[in-house]
Formats: sequence, structure tokens, C-alpha cells
Amino acid sequence: MRYKLISSKIERVTIIKSNKAFVLILMLVIALISVTFIYLISKDKPEEISYNLFLKLLDKGAVMEVNIGQDSKIEVILDNGRKTITENPRTEGFKEELLLKDVVVNEKDIEITEAIMPIIILLSLVLMVISMRRDFSGQAEKEMATISKMDDDLPQIDIRLKDVAGNEEAKRSLKEMVDFIKNPEDYIKFGARMPRGLLLYGPPGTGKTLLAKALAGEANVPFYPVSGSDFVQVYAGLGAGRIRELFKKARGVGKSVIFIDEIDCIGKKRKASDFGGSEEGDRTLNALLTEMSGFKENEGIIVVAATNRIDVLDDALLRPGRFDRQLEVELPDINARYRILKLHSKNKPLNSGIDLRKLAEETIYFSGAKLESLLNEAAIMAVKEKSKDITKEHIEKSYLKVLVGDEKLERSHIDMKDKEITAYHEAGHALIAKLIDKNNRVTRVSIIPSTRGVGGFSINLPQDKIYRTRKDLASNIMVALGGRAAEEIIYGKDYITTGASSDLEKATETIISIVGNLGMDDEYGLLNIKVLSAMGLTGENNLIERSSSILSDLYKETKKLLEDSREYLEKMTRELIIKETIDEEEVNRILEISPEGHTIN
Ligand code: ADP
Ligand code: ZN
Repeated sequence: MRYKLISSKIERVTIIKSNKAFVLILMLVIALISVTFIYLISKDKPEEISYNLFLKLLDKGAVMEVNIGQDSKIEVILDNGRKTITENPRTEGFKEELLLKDVVVNEKDIEITEAIMPIIILLSLVLMVISMRRDFSGQAEKEMATISKMDDDLPQIDIRLKDVAGNEEAKRSLKEMVDFIKNPEDYIKFGARMPRGLLLYGPPGTGKTLLAKALAGEANVPFYPVSGSDFVQVYAGLGAGRIRELFKKARGVGKSVIFIDEIDCIGKKRKASDFGGSEEGDRTLNALLTEMSGFKENEGIIVVAATNRIDVLDDALLRPGRFDRQLEVELPDINARYRILKLHSKNKPLNSGIDLRKLAEETIYFSGAKLESLLNEAAIMAVKEKSKDITKEHIEKSYLKVLVGDEKLERSHIDMKDKEITAYHEAGHALIAKLIDKNNRVTRVSIIPSTRGVGGFSINLPQDKIYRTRKDLASNIMVALGGRAAEEIIYGKDYITTGASSDLEKATETIISIVGNLGMDDEYGLLNIKVLSAMGLTGENNLIERSSSILSDLYKETKKLLEDSREYLEKMTRELIIKETIDEEEVNRILEISPEGHTIN
């Protein structure tokens, strides 16, 4: 396994090198073209003066230099350095006349340079293309070689699920998949279809690669890692070919895990307006989709893809039969951070003065990768200093080192106030959801940023209903406003934050819909704004006024609810600051709600 990783790394380096050469050549071409352009343009730039004016200037001795050629114009340089052109009189004594007036006369043929220039450009372009061609065919050979290498040694993985800390939900899901891979026959018997693709999404360094490896490790099958960015540098059909080759290899081996990191590089949403480059990307993406649909049922091959951003992915990737299982991999909360720190300090001699719990507290917003590098840097320092173990000072120095260059972390470290504001804000949302209706389920409240934004809370509204009532919609708005309302109650009007911007987007959308689309406001009436505007009729002003007024009332109501339950708001915020994430059980405990949904006292 180790050998395999190293060999492919070397190849990657040569590919990058030849890529650099390509970029260099490209830049040269661009530079050449620009220079030519500027030359041609600036040549035409001098302002033209009339021949009469030229003669007047000549008389006054204001002409310094004249360039004469076969052209119909001559170039005139005045004593102030300005360049102008005028008609070429083409008279016999013209040159002598000039010379007698002490004007410098140059006889140079502009025509020749002009005629030669396009030839020069063409020649250099041809040369560039030839050298580029050579470069690409070399790259293509290397790319193919990387793939052929794959069966030289079957990569077996020694990473297990126990090597991944936190991410409990993702791990549970992976355990199920391990069974799918190990015993596909059982699933065939019951006519069950094995999932083909698993998409892991979340911030960088949170353990997505680690989870994919653990899946292969647990199932004891080969692991084939590739990166979406590898396919982007590839030219003319090579990306698609590479995908097919990859799947062919995996199929030849049978059960295996294919891992595609940075899937967004090949799977971005397709836009009609895209030109050129994206065509190649499309071909690669199509090849991937075709290969995935072409799996025989229960072959035991799972494709795991990872991305930092699920929102930019093409919908085609997320459809059933493709990456239909999606797991969010989040930044670790305080408990997960403690477990990650413990895991990575297992093989390191830590001084007894180091309190990992406390370190976990101080590393909010750190990813797993950052935590690992924090301990690693400390270990390196300890070795360099020939210390007998890793001390608190090493950790402290390493902490600063890891923070350097990461503005977000640096800021978060200094400004623990942010943590408090976020806690109040999220508690506000969660509390409103429960206060409106105890049967609303708040399954999770968190102050750790996720791909969806800072902090977060999940609520499951009760029964799935076909119709939603006006009251349901108004409740949604109040839940959305709960964050801002909590901020205002605690910190006052002047200190409300930008944290509510997406909440307000959602609230605005809903209220406009209530009033303008759904006929749910008596005063505005039953007219539908979409139809009105399609007919060129307006009604927006009235709509905006009504919507804004209702929204204000709902906000007041939201604030009132929170003020009346301030004690709970404080309690939940305190828990959030300590634990960073709280689950449904804890939410209910804080609000003194029994599992059946009744208040205990
Ligand atoms: P991603 O693929 O999400 O960018 P990686 O899986 O490459 O992140 O993580 C990089 C390294 O960080 C891992 O090799 C591991 O050492 C450490 N790491 C990240 N998350 C965890 C975790 N949850 N548990 C243990 N180690 C982790
Ligand atoms: Zn919010």
C-alpha cells in the first residue's frame, strides 16, 4: 500500500511539471500575440494632420524628424516629441527640402515589417503547437501508466473504523455498507439492491478520505483512490478513458472500493452557457455516470466520492443508482475533538501535565486534520529539543504554528464572544420551534459551522402532511426569526449581527408566498402575483407593504415568546457553549419535556 502511494505520487509530480511547461508556453503565446497587437495598434495611433498644417509647422521649424517610405503617409515627429502622420507628397525634391530645413529624414520601409509580422506570428504559433503536442502525448502515456500500475500490487488498507473518531452517524452507515460488500449474496437472495455510490461531503480535513479507507479496510477489499482534479488536466477524451480504465481494473479484481476525491472537479453543475473546457468535463462525467449505471447488481464494488461542497454538484450525480447515499461529515465538536486528540496521541509520549480535555475545549473549529497536525508538530519539536516527552510548551508552540495563516481559526480563538452569540442565536431557533408546538422535534442544535453556514439546528416537523396550513407557514417564519430575536433580546438592537441573513431570506420568501401566491391574507386578497405580473399588471407595492407588516408582527410575537422563556434560552445557551452540539434528548431535558412530549411539571 505504502509503495503504491509513493509511486503514484512521483508520477503526479512529473505530470505537474509538464503541465507547468504547458502553462509557460501558453503564457509566451499570449504575450507574443499581445505585443504584436499593441505594435499594430500603436502603429496606427499617431494623429493625422493636414499637409498644409505640416508645411506650416515645417516653416516654423517645429518638425524634427520625418520617416518616409513607399507608404501613402509619412511619419512626422515634432519638436515636442509628438508623432503625427500626414500625406506623402511623393514629390522629387521633398527630401531635399526637408534636409535644407534641418529635418532628420529616415527612409525606412514600414511595408516590409508589416508584411513579415504575420509570418512571424504564424511561424511561432506553429512551433508552439508542435511543442505542446509533444508535451501532451507524453502526459497521456504517463496517465495511462498510472492506471496500468494499479494491478501491479493490490492496495490493501490497514485502516479500520476505530481509527476514525467522531462522525458516529457516518460510521454507522459505513458499517452497513461493509456488510453489503462482504455478503452481497445475502442481499441478492432478498432482491435487495446494493448501494453503488456514497457521497461524503463536508469541510476539508474532517476525515472523508479516512472514512473511505476504513470502508475498504473493514471489508478487506482493495482501495482505488483517484482525485477529480487528476481528470481536469487531462486532454481530449483522456478523462473519460481514464474513468473507463479505472472501472475495468476494479471490475477485474471484483469487490473493491473506488474513491474519487474532489468529485466537484468533474461533477460541477452543467450550465448551458459553458463553452469549450466544460465539454471535456462533461465527457468525463458522462463516462462516470455510465460506468456506475453499468455495474452488475451486487458486484461488490462501491464508489465513494468526497467533496467540500455538495451544492455545486450536478444533480445527475445524486440520482438513484449513482451517489444516492449522502453523508455529511462535520467538523468535530468538543467530544469528537477529545477523541481525535486521544487517538492521535496514543503513540506519542505526552507529559502528564497535558490535559487533552482542556485542549479539546481550546480547539473549537479545528478539523481532524488540524488536530492531528497540532500533535504532530508538537512531537517534532520535542524530538528536535531532545526532550524526554511532549510538554505543554510544545503543544502551545505548535498550536500557534498550526493557527498561522488560518484567519478563521485565529479569529475564533481570540473571539470567544462569537461562540456565545452563535449559541444564543441557535438556541433561539430551537426554542421557538419547541415553544410553538411541543411535538415539533428538534433533533440537533449546534454551534459548529457546517457546509450550510455557521452553527445550525435540525428540526423535524411532525406528521408529513400533503397540505400545509397558514399557521404552519407562519410557524416556519417564527422559527426562522428566532435567531435574530434571541440576539436582540440578549444584546440589544444595536448589537444584532449579520448571522441572520439567510434566516431573513427564508422568512421573506415564505411571507411573500403567503400573501402574494397563496391568497392567505384577507387584506391583500386572493390575487396571485405571478399571474398579475405575467399580464403586466402590478400589485407589488401593496404586496410588499402587507408582507412587511405581517412579518413585523410575527417578529414581535417571536420575541415575546422568547422573553417569556428567557430562563430556557439561557439554559440552552449555556449547554451549547459547553457541549457545542446537543441532541434531541438533551434539548428535551433542558426544556423539561418527557419523551412523550409532555412537560414534566
Ligand atoms: P478529508 O478527506 O475530509 O479532507 P482526511 O481524511 O484526508 O480529510 O483527513 C486527514 C487526516 O486528518 C487523516 O489522515 C487523519 O490523520 C486526520 N483526521 C481527520 N479527521 C479525523 C477523524 N475524524 N478521526 C481521526 N483522524 C482524523
Ligand atoms: Zn439562524
